[in-house]
Amino acid sequence: MERTLILIKPNAIQRGIMGDIITRFERKGLRIAGLKMMFLTDEILAEHYAHLVQRPFYPYLKASMQAGPVVACCLEGAEAVETVRQMVGVTNSRKALPGTIRGDFSMSGEQNVVHASDSVENAAIELNRFFKEGELFDYDCAVTRFEYGGEETIKFLNK
Ligand code: UDP
Ligand code: MG
Repeated sequence: MERTLILIKPNAIQRGIMGDIITRFERKGLRIAGLKMMFLTDEILAEHYAHLVQRPFYPYLKASMQAGPVVACCLEGAEAVETVRQMVGVTNSRKALPGTIRGDFSMSGEQNVVHASDSVENAAIELNRFFKEGELFDYDCAVTRFEYGGEETIKFLNK
């Protein structure tokens, strides 16, 4: 099954909405394959936001991402990368549609509560960046057969 990375940003943890965010993914039927709290170093942040380090707002972004710990979470499911990006909504939370996480929980373009990988390729790179060997878990869930149809089970779950 496909895996993707989300980071619950420090602003969401400070505001006490980390559980609400995790609950949304659980309710959707995405499986949590890994979960941990960590502080982001200058190095990991510069690597993670390499496409933005030269931008004028990077110092603000960096400060906001180091204002407290983040929670890194690996979510698993059929087409998980695209599904999670849709659930998260566009970068500027004021433009994010109601019903999306950013649309429902934030007013900000910077303090937009959650990061999500933007492609299958980047998801693999980012999971490798935030999780060590042995920190991601493969396990069977009894409800999987009620979450996916027969054709999807063959196509996405390799069974
Ligand atoms: N960001 C910002 N101002 C901008 C663009 C981005 O503060 O004009 C921050 C914002 O927190 C965003 C992060 O930088 O989530 C990464 O930007 P990216 O373009 O990768 O957006 P995302 O993939 O998070 O939607
Ligand atoms: Mg991005």
